[in-house]
Amino acid sequence: MKRFDAIVVGGGLVGSAIAYGLAREGLRTVLLDEGDVAFRASRGNFGLVWVQSKGDGAPHYQRWTRLSADQWPPLAVELLAKTGIAVGHERPGGVHLCLSEAELEARRQMMERMRAQSGNFGFDYRMLDPRELADVFRGVGPAVVGASYTPYDGHANPLNLLHALHKGFVEKGGHYLPNSEVSDTTAAPGDFRIHVASGEIVAPKVVLAAGLGNAALAPRFGLFAPVKPLRGQILVTERTERVLTMPITTIRQTVEGSIMLGDSQEDVGFDTSQKPDVMKTIARRAVLSFPWLRDLQIVRAWAALRVMPPDGLPIYDQSERFPGAFTANCHSGVTLAGAHANAFAPMVAAGALDPALDLFSGKRFDVPAAA
Ligand SMILES: Cc1cc2nc3c(=O)[nH]c(=O)nc-3n(C[C@H](O)[C@H](O)[C@H](O)COP(=O)(O)OP(=O)(O)OC[C@H]3O[C@@H](n4cnc5c(N)ncnc54)[C@H](O)[C@@H]3O)c2cc1C
Repeated sequence: MKRFDAIVVGGGLVGSAIAYGLAREGLRTVLLDEGDVAFRASRGNFGLVWVQSKGDGAPHYQRWTRLSADQWPPLAVELLAKTGIAVGHERPGGVHLCLSEAELEARRQMMERMRAQSGNFGFDYRMLDPRELADVFRGVGPAVVGASYTPYDGHANPLNLLHALHKGFVEKGGHYLPNSEVSDTTAAPGDFRIHVASGEIVAPKVVLAAGLGNAALAPRFGLFAPVKPLRGQILVTERTERVLTMPITTIRQTVEGSIMLGDSQEDVGFDTSQKPDVMKTIARRAVLSFPWLRDLQIVRAWAALRVMPPDGLPIYDQSERFPGAFTANCHSGVTLAGAHANAFAPMVAAGALDPALDLFSGKRFDVPAAA
């Protein structure tokens, strides 16, 4: 039997950011993860640290996302200093392009709603016309009728982030146990026992951050995380000179020069196959936005499954039945890495989630219990 201060289940971006934060708080932490064959949104995402569309009708989500985007620069600097891994974070602001007057009007209305909902917190946005866009980006296509911009957005290399969080976790004394699928568990208040191949792991705290695996794990700990898969497909071009000065919702240029085109939203269950018709739609929209993209070769493409809560907002909870058990799920694990490492983990270490997170409780989906 091995005793720890905290167990984190799931070594994707959510689990590793929280585990890194817990180890930094001085907790003896073990991170349990599956093997190579698993659903892992963290290895197939688009890499945006994206704020501008988060929280329409849910200003608490906008505030949490902004907090995370503000925590990103210090986290990136810290990870570089501690691990030597550059996570490629840039925050030049971001743009959403509209390809029809109807899209532009819907976007304008959404941005204005979010500004009104933000109250004193504020929401700084601008709508850009094609002339202003031409000052920002070279070679914008005539199909683009306008765009929204906020200064809060950015992007990063999500694989480097995952690597740096894992390395940083281990360097801070964390124990990483891959090939440890969690299925045999015992829960009592402040006493959690998990049986894995290497033996029994015991701790007074457990954080469920197993992505899509949380749906099955959460009820064992008195928690509720009804997440479902939502497929996204991404195309990547060959490298080219630096042309895009800031990320766009579905087009971003990496530090290395590739241009990533994404990403679809497909409700197809656990199917991770790629579909030519979806890839065609992604490419067509990208070429309408920047006609010069048609001269670049696509060198990679993939599909991956998002971890999607029913209303698209994160789920954070501590179990009432088994205090010490926490759950964390979101569909923006890159964006929220700053909040998970620097805000959520210290709350877990202190034993209580901040009341500001109450609205993210999974109880919002549990209609009979809430009634
Ligand atoms: C196409 C696409 C584009 C995206 N673009 C962005 C973006 O631009 N910006 C952004 O912020 N987010 C983006 N996301 C979302 C982001 O990738 C996810 O929010 C994030 O990766 C979720 O991380 P996670 O750790 O919760 O889940 P995962 O990465 O799925 O990790 C879960 C881990 O838990 C393990 N696990 C599961 N069950 C068990 C078990 N029983 N025992 C042990 N381990 C278990 C799995 O093996 C896995 O390693 C995108 C996602 C996709 C698919």
